[in-house]
Amino acid sequence: MKIAVTGGAGYIGSHTVKLLTEEGHNILVIDNLYNGHREAVPDNATFIKCDIRDIENLKEIFNEFKPEAVIHFAAFIEVGESTKNPLSFYINNVSGTLSLLSTMEETGIDKIIFSSTAAVYGNPKTVPIPETEPVKPINPYGQTKACVEKALKDISQFSNLKYVSLRYFNAAGADPSGLIGESHNPETHLIPLVLKTAKGEREQISIFGTDYPTPDGTCIRDYIHINDLAKAHLLALEYLMSGGESNVFNCGYGKGYSVREIIDMAKKVTEKDFKVVEEKRREGDPAILVADSKKLKSILNWKAEFDDLEFIIKTAWNWELNRRF
Ligand code: UDP
Repeated sequence: MKIAVTGGAGYIGSHTVKLLTEEGHNILVIDNLYNGHREAVPDNATFIKCDIRDIENLKEIFNEFKPEAVIHFAAFIEVGESTKNPLSFYINNVSGTLSLLSTMEETGIDKIIFSSTAAVYGNPKTVPIPETEPVKPINPYGQTKACVEKALKDISQFSNLKYVSLRYFNAAGADPSGLIGESHNPETHLIPLVLKTAKGEREQISIFGTDYPTPDGTCIRDYIHINDLAKAHLLALEYLMSGGESNVFNCGYGKGYSVREIIDMAKKVTEKDFKVVEEKRREGDPAILVADSKKLKSILNWKAEFDDLEFIIKTAWNWELNRRF
């Protein structure tokens, strides 16, 4: 299949592109390289530097490549940053996606896989969270993703557009090949920050909040290995291509780990001790986000292959020690 992947040079994007090319698909990566890395795109995928808000350029690219579907990763992702600079999140995540959707409509592409997030649930009442839980984000990042989900629902109801929205829990780890991995600048995510501390690049790791209503007082997240997450995209693509209806799926393991548990596992994997400091809560953080992923399993036939925190952190550590970008 011919697939265009926006944000394909980013963390989740590049792991998905690697899998899709290995499966024999013809991939065009569109990325403005604001956060992505050119080196993360495999040689057998085509790369074009372009911003999704550049409608004219995007139209030309689509008319030439003629993708059968789009996988849309390109977005700003940091919760904390979204509370400091919400407008940029609306411009990039909402306006950017609307530009992409209008260009798709103009060029006759009617299938999209959208990167959504567990942040759309805010502080959910039911844990593990089913997809039927109300969408009530508590930070601007989650709001922008919820906004796009609403737009997708409306547009698909009254046009040919078919979409799958994948609500990611916490993507983590790296491809075991060591060729690609997580590389954000600045890095804000827990696991890479802990590993940079273990490596000696940072003096200490901060725990943001120790007074949450969880067993050890720190936030609980559902960390899903990046290759299991990439697989969900492949399955979603096959689902849409075989006539599947628009749908929304959680992507997680249904199991959560606290910030303290992550730090402990990182100490075990790296065999390093390092300084841990307790700080106040980070704005916009829900206490617990754990997926109910029954729907992903039953409808897309997804199976967790790497549901093992030690393995996840080992692959992230391997990448951290041998980073190519
Ligand atoms: N976190 C932390 N210290 C850090 C970075 C993150 O305690 O230096 C916490 C954060 O508050 C959240 C969890 O780790 O509860 C996961 O955060 P991350 O940014 O990795 O992912 P998010 O859940 O925000 O998508």
